[in-house]
Amino acid sequence: MKSKKPGKNPKKKMTRREFLRVGARAGLALGAAGVAGGAFLRGRQTADLRWQLDPDKCIQCGRCATHCVLTPSAVKAVHAYDVCGYCELCSGYFKPNALLLDTAAENRLCPVSAIKRTFVEDPYYQYTIDTDLCIGCGKCVKGCQSFGNGSLFLQAMHDRCVNCNECAIARACPARAWTRLPASAPYMLKGKSRGSGDAKK
Ligand code: SF4
Ligand code: SF4
Ligand code: SF4
Repeated sequence: MKSKKPGKNPKKKMTRREFLRVGARAGLALGAAGVAGGAFLRGRQTADLRWQLDPDKCIQCGRCATHCVLTPSAVKAVHAYDVCGYCELCSGYFKPNALLLDTAAENRLCPVSAIKRTFVEDPYYQYTIDTDLCIGCGKCVKGCQSFGNGSLFLQAMHDRCVNCNECAIARACPARAWTRLPASAPYMLKGKSRGSGDAKK
């Protein structure tokens, strides 16, 4: 099997910074301080709050794609690059039974081809989500956390979400992963990336 979880590599880190500089990533910064407890939220007005899902509770059931009032869903996959292994064999990008590690549709997990695979340097690849295409199905998230570093996760995007009084996905979520966060910090990071201050999409 090809390299899947590369260790620390200074050359790779430089390349990643270069990607940051040239703006290869879209510009959403996820609020690292977004984890708010119930006590913190008490007393706030609903208008000051935004619906969000906790990616550590999410089990990728698929309802984020099908139960949003918007089509496509306001929920999208996002990527914590500082946690990503830049794997050649990315389990969030390739089907488990992929015959070749190439960009042919039959080898890719994403049903709408929303993940772009870009060669960085041997053996590293960067994976970027096209949020206009992403439907929030969570297949890439499940693949990444099953066999990879868990750097992909779902978030409700607040440039799209209309902040329903009662979120239809929250009502249907089997993992009770949804909560409301302050409008000033409406995103949550996942797992290891919660300790990283600069995870970005
Ligand atoms: S409905 Fe809940 S468990 Fe299902 S994908 Fe959305 S957040 Fe995850
Ligand atoms: S697999 Fe699903 S969640 Fe992941 S990028 Fe594609 S549409 Fe979005
Ligand atoms: S609050 Fe409404 S628009 Fe936002 S994710 Fe939930 S159902 Fe979709």
